[in-house]
Amino acid sequence: MFDYCIVGSGLFGSIFAYEANKRGKKCLVIERRNHIGGNCYTKLKENINIHAYGAHIFRTDSKQIWDYMQEFCTFNHFINSPIANFKGEIYNLPFNMNTFSKLWGISTPKEAQEIIQSQKKAALDSLKGAPRNLEEHAIALVGVDVYEKFIKGYTKKQWGRDCKDLPASIIKRIPVRFIYDNNYFNDPYQGIPKGGYTPIFEKLLKNCEVLLNTDFLTNKKELSKKAKKILFTGTIDAYFDYVLGTLEYRSLQFEEELLECANYQGVAVVNFTDAETPYTRIIEHKHFEFGTQKNTIISKEYPQNWDKTKEPYYPINDTKNQALYAKYQDLAKEEKNLIFGGRLGEYRYYDMQDVIKAALELVKRELV
Ligand code: FAD
Ligand code: UDP
Repeated sequence: MFDYCIVGSGLFGSIFAYEANKRGKKCLVIERRNHIGGNCYTKLKENINIHAYGAHIFRTDSKQIWDYMQEFCTFNHFINSPIANFKGEIYNLPFNMNTFSKLWGISTPKEAQEIIQSQKKAALDSLKGAPRNLEEHAIALVGVDVYEKFIKGYTKKQWGRDCKDLPASIIKRIPVRFIYDNNYFNDPYQGIPKGGYTPIFEKLLKNCEVLLNTDFLTNKKELSKKAKKILFTGTIDAYFDYVLGTLEYRSLQFEEELLECANYQGVAVVNFTDAETPYTRIIEHKHFEFGTQKNTIISKEYPQNWDKTKEPYYPINDTKNQALYAKYQDLAKEEKNLIFGGRLGEYRYYDMQDVIKAALELVKRELV
């Protein structure tokens, strides 16, 4: 008999398993994929660590979380400074003085602020009230030019919906700066684990029994009997067999290519911000670790409609889905000895640092 059956070997499940194990609890980890690590998983190819489920850049504003991770890895000094490619024109991201300078041929913050201010004013005057959706929020924040070149097409591809039909929260993550600074994040701590993410999970799970290639939901009855409690980090609506309806997700497809050249795009991440290019990003994996290998590997990221046969990469946190999720939460409260956690279990657009924080909070509630 196990104390916990943990469904999903991603960051949430693995951190909880590690902490539970440290406190003398026996954990069984069930994973439907053929590897541990969830979406953070990296694999070695051509001596390059491949981020198999998209670019994963670790960052946090919490010294506590940064220090916590040092037990499992050493971070390099990578700073994410992605490039935007709009129909062949190259700009710096996030939206900062380098972007504005190239866009408008200006050089001072005052000039940039005046242009954005006048575009904002025109937009807000026609709005009559506070911005209600992603398009209105974006224009009110950075003006029409930035919105049209960098946000409109990319966001429509990424989410499969018009910016008018999306919540503003999606783009509130991106900084807007009136200094020359291409760091995509504001957090004081940032890096890529040297040697990739998978060794972190090997350490986190080293004292647990792990069953790969096993879908908990197809063996639910039998596997539930193996432990006193279940921690489920898959999708909450799937756990309940979609009885209340289906939550919406966005899926992705990754197309990997080995290229016989040492340096393909000169940077780890390029965003293709026009509407026509079918993929949103190309990542060149070697640049996450300053690689000097002879060849290179790139991945193109194609957004996709989600259905039950596809991986649910992003929750779509609009009003309709949030209301349905709240109903699933009520259902979950009725179940004894069952906990939901992580990006899918909590239906939240969590980054890694958020997942670690949430998992450690659960540890405090459950185990201390
Ligand atoms: P997951 O990693 O999704 O793990 C859940 C696991 O549960 C999976 O392995 C899944 O196979 C398994 N599972 C699900 N259902 C079942 C079942 N029925 N039976 C058995 N197993 C099951 N965060 C950052 O901080 N920085 C980034 O740069 C970043 N980039 C990202 C890029 C992309 C494209 C995506 C999609 C996410 C990115 N993230 C990033 C977010 C990051 O991936 C997540 O915050 C984190 O991996 C979530 O961990 P988790 O354990 O909650 O979920
Ligand atoms: N976004 C955009 N243009 C860009 C980058 C991002 O319009 O060049 C928008 C898009 O809607 C995206 C959101 O901002 O979904 C958040 O971007 P982020 O890079 O944080 O997305 P993630 O890495 O989570 O996919």
